[in-house]
Amino acid sequence: MERVSVYEVGPRDGLQNEATTLSTETKLSFIERLVDAGVRDIEVSSFVRPRWIPQLADADHVVAGLPAYEGVTYWGLVPNKRGLDRAVSVEMEAIATFMSTSETHNLKNVNRSTRESLLGLREVIADALEQGMRVRSYLSTVFGCPYEGKVDPRRTVDLAGELLAAGAERISLGDTTGMGNPRQVQTILRMLQDDGISLDKITLHMHDTRGTALANILAGLEAGVRQFDTSVAGLGGCPYAPGASGNAASEDLIYMLHEMGYETGIDLDRLADVGLFVEDALGRELPGRYHLAHRAQCSAAKVLEA
Ligand code: MG
Repeated sequence: MERVSVYEVGPRDGLQNEATTLSTETKLSFIERLVDAGVRDIEVSSFVRPRWIPQLADADHVVAGLPAYEGVTYWGLVPNKRGLDRAVSVEMEAIATFMSTSETHNLKNVNRSTRESLLGLREVIADALEQGMRVRSYLSTVFGCPYEGKVDPRRTVDLAGELLAAGAERISLGDTTGMGNPRQVQTILRMLQDDGISLDKITLHMHDTRGTALANILAGLEAGVRQFDTSVAGLGGCPYAPGASGNAASEDLIYMLHEMGYETGIDLDRLADVGLFVEDALGRELPGRYHLAHRAQCSAAKVLEA
């Protein structure tokens, strides 16, 4: 069976967009449950300044408490050199860098031009590689920008090429605001390949804000992409639209993949229970579709038992 890898962003990208801050202990329990369900790549926290994202201010403690498992890679988000130093000090093995393809979004998000970001990230990536770390790089607002609207796909292709040349092993293309459509996905992937970038270096990070995440993922899958970023139960809202969904839900993707005959190494039933666990911990209903079906089934089973 053909393998597709699912990179879980729930503990970082999910939790950073939730109003409730979980305790370090609950986060560690969450991550351990993900590992038990068979998840092998987990973005566990972020080394941005704690006051930017208070939900993840305990990154150092989370990382210090992570159980070591053969074959599991924990990733930490790193914004700059200072973030990298923190990641190094807690012996992180893998980091993710980020910048926007949109000039305005990058400026508002990190207060730098995209050129300045790229120059800074080159050094961060080089330093991380020297430390023996693995590095992936996010490009956000690839499929649309909340300030600029459409983003020229050429910018994405050029920046992806630069970050790969700097040493990133993968580029994750983010649909930050959930504005993308399948045709756009096809176009960008074709342009990347025309530029000599192999799709085994590309991950898609789609958001379901407007209900197009799985359709966009399918377009990527059919084009040859074999890694996707998702969060369990669709954890994490959309920072630009309160109440709207953010990340595509891991269970929805994994259900689709398994039914199509792909292998992920993840036990869907166990993962669905992790969704219930996080929902309970946060005390808010999470939007994943498989998650909702699983929850309804579980409560029906409980009624039958009673
Ligand atoms: Mg996201």
